[in-house]
Amino acid sequence: VDEAFLLADELGPAKVVALHLPAVPLRAIVVVDNVACGPAIGGVRMAPDVSVQECIRLARAMTLKNAAAELPHGGGKSVVFGDPAIPAPQKENAIRAFADAIRDLRDYVPGPDMGTDERAMAWVWDEIGRSVGLPRELGGIPLDEIGATGLGLRAAAEVAQGFCDVRLRGARVAIQGFGAVGMHAARFLAERGAVLVAASDSQGTLADPAGLDVEQLIALKRSGRSLREAPFGRASGRDDVIGVDCDLWIPAARPDVVRADNVDRLRARVVVQGANIPFTAEAESALQRRGVLVVPDFIANAGGVICAVVEYHGGSQRQALQTIEEKISANVQRVLEESRRQDILPRQAAVELALSRVRAAGGYRRWH
Ligand code: NAD
Repeated sequence: VDEAFLLADELGPAKVVALHLPAVPLRAIVVVDNVACGPAIGGVRMAPDVSVQECIRLARAMTLKNAAAELPHGGGKSVVFGDPAIPAPQKENAIRAFADAIRDLRDYVPGPDMGTDERAMAWVWDEIGRSVGLPRELGGIPLDEIGATGLGLRAAAEVAQGFCDVRLRGARVAIQGFGAVGMHAARFLAERGAVLVAASDSQGTLADPAGLDVEQLIALKRSGRSLREAPFGRASGRDDVIGVDCDLWIPAARPDVVRADNVDRLRARVVVQGANIPFTAEAESALQRRGVLVVPDFIANAGGVICAVVEYHGGSQRQALQTIEEKISANVQRVLEESRRQDILPRQAAVELALSRVRAAGGYRRWH
């Protein structure tokens, strides 16, 4: 109980629920952070070792992300403790038991996260009729297949052009992480005439100042191979992508990849963050001092959750794509304008925007 209140502030968490069904076996926690804007949406993480505090932090991140994207949803997160690679029947049992246990926790709408996927969301749906990130057959919009987050990153980059001297046509782009987010960002940016000069995956970096063929790289990754195996470009170490000479740099892999000790290597003029918290706070401040524009993660990478919310409200894939572009463009514009006007970090402007929306919504609520 102490742990649940340690991080409590005026916004939340509203509920921290521990679930325990030894017969399954199931141990899980659900955090509903704040529901001023509407029922909390957030992923179900299946992992052996997430602390309650980490889950509370992740739920808060969703409150801010959903509010910043102006979605009628609060933030939440849950953890089902266990190895996500257990045999499918055991995993199905655990997820179904989890779903059954949250049946009456109506202000939490589960979505996919690390260790869970559209099948897991289908099991939740089958049990309680409440989840997002469903298979197409159940009305889902497959966000990773259509590149929801990559599309949002391009929308963010397009708006950022008005705040720096980089133009997407001919811009040299480097992308760290060529997975669901990175490869679609590359594809959408190439449509606007940007040139992919480097990309990396967990095995290494592939670079060519004259430009890499995006479609060929996507085909390579889809066949299960790594970028280093491409028959073109120059292969080098995994972290070399950080020092590549480019105009636009997109982190789309892991947290904390750019820190005080390596931020000097970054040679881009604008950064659009696809991964969650890819830079430390010190690194972001250092870049601001150097005049590098950084569009923060929860504004730029909200394409996935926007897609999930359109799905939840019965919208089509076309509506999802249109909504992603509209919302992210408007929010990036607003955040960068505020950051310039107040001379603050874009991240700070983004947090203020999100908080102002949560507080305004709270004003209509009896208990907020
Ligand atoms: P993914 O697993 O599909 O792809 C990750 C890619 O990064 C892989 O190509 C992997 O090889 C590579 N990678 C891993 N470690 C690396 C490293 N140290 N250096 C370089 N490359 C590395 O994952 P994804 O869905 O594309 O998500 C990427 C990031 O974006 C994650 O941080 C995720 O939390 C975040 N994110 C994803 C979405 C989404 O819609 N999928 C939305 C918001 C944020």
